[in-house]
Amino acid sequence: MKYFTQYGIQNKVCEHFRNSLINNRLAHAYLFYGPEGTGKDAFALELAKTLNCADEHQRPCNKCASCQKINHLNHPDVHLVIPVNKALTSDKIRERLKKMVVNPFAGIDGSSQHNILIDQIRELKYESKYTPHEAQKKVYIISSAERMNKEAANSFLKILEEPPDSLIIVMTTSNLNAIPITIRSRCHIIYFPVLKFDEAISVVEQYDTVDDKIKEIIYLNENNLKKIFNSLSEDYGAKSQLVYEYIKAAASQDILRLTEAIDKMTATRDRNYLLDLLNLLILWFKDVIHVIALNDESIIINTDLKENITKFTRIYRDSDFEQIINNISDPGNTLIDYAVGKGGDIPKWISAKFDYVIFIRSSKV
Ligand SMILES: [Zn+2]
Repeated sequence: MKYFTQYGIQNKVCEHFRNSLINNRLAHAYLFYGPEGTGKDAFALELAKTLNCADEHQRPCNKCASCQKINHLNHPDVHLVIPVNKALTSDKIRERLKKMVVNPFAGIDGSSQHNILIDQIRELKYESKYTPHEAQKKVYIISSAERMNKEAANSFLKILEEPPDSLIIVMTTSNLNAIPITIRSRCHIIYFPVLKFDEAISVVEQYDTVDDKIKEIIYLNENNLKKIFNSLSEDYGAKSQLVYEYIKAAASQDILRLTEAIDKMTATRDRNYLLDLLNLLILWFKDVIHVIALNDESIIINTDLKENITKFTRIYRDSDFEQIINNISDPGNTLIDYAVGKGGDIPKWISAKFDYVIFIRSSKV
């Protein structure tokens, strides 16, 4: 029997589970942890398929009824739990899950406003009492498990303490320390390292033709699959244009146009949209850094704006772009969370965050 032949990345993780399956030594509960965009949720689904696949030679086969149902997230015994809030309708939740169906590597848009709620865990707990409908193993996947609130975590602990034989639990997180020790200690912990460049390419190749431009996007996003697929999403061009308008207005210190650009960028009050814009802004400066370092304009990924980036690089080449990238990076997304939260003032936040462009200007003149 061959296992995980189509997964293509995280060889060590695959090897670990291959051995566990061959020796029939699976744990009841796993905690997958590692940086964002390393395929944790995707592998959790891969494992769920493998455990229930009907194929005689390779698992998962992605062809049998069980694999198909799990790929479409409608298997009655495989449950994927994602952070939500009470205001999210079931349609909206389904919409989010649909993204996972289309591409499990793209990840689910998270938000610190969203949590795993006690009701979601209660449902699992109730469900766990019954034998599987059709599966050999029921699988519960808790994505972003660090978002379980205290109530939910306590309730979840009860399932972990006495898991039925037919159940495998997989939690995923990029923040191991935020998982209560009582939960961690009951799980087998599996680390998902940052992908190598070739690994990221092999995943993107499953969804897109990888040309030089896409290779550059992979490189600039540091092989983080979530960010890569975000960059490749359809409205990439429009967002990139918006960021360009912002940079242009800020660099020329045209306050009227700057205010207009900020208004446009923040109109949606949507956290993920803002994250994309911030990411694009960082990509812009990475492009600039590469052009200066290699003295080669052909490596610009933003080919639509190639001339503008080249011109920008010529004018501002003495600025400290590494520092600028540090200034605008927001690793914990705390500022974005604040900005979209109640009472948060997005325009103020955005201008504070993007004021660095004025700083470029002043460092040059
Ligand atoms: Zn199958």
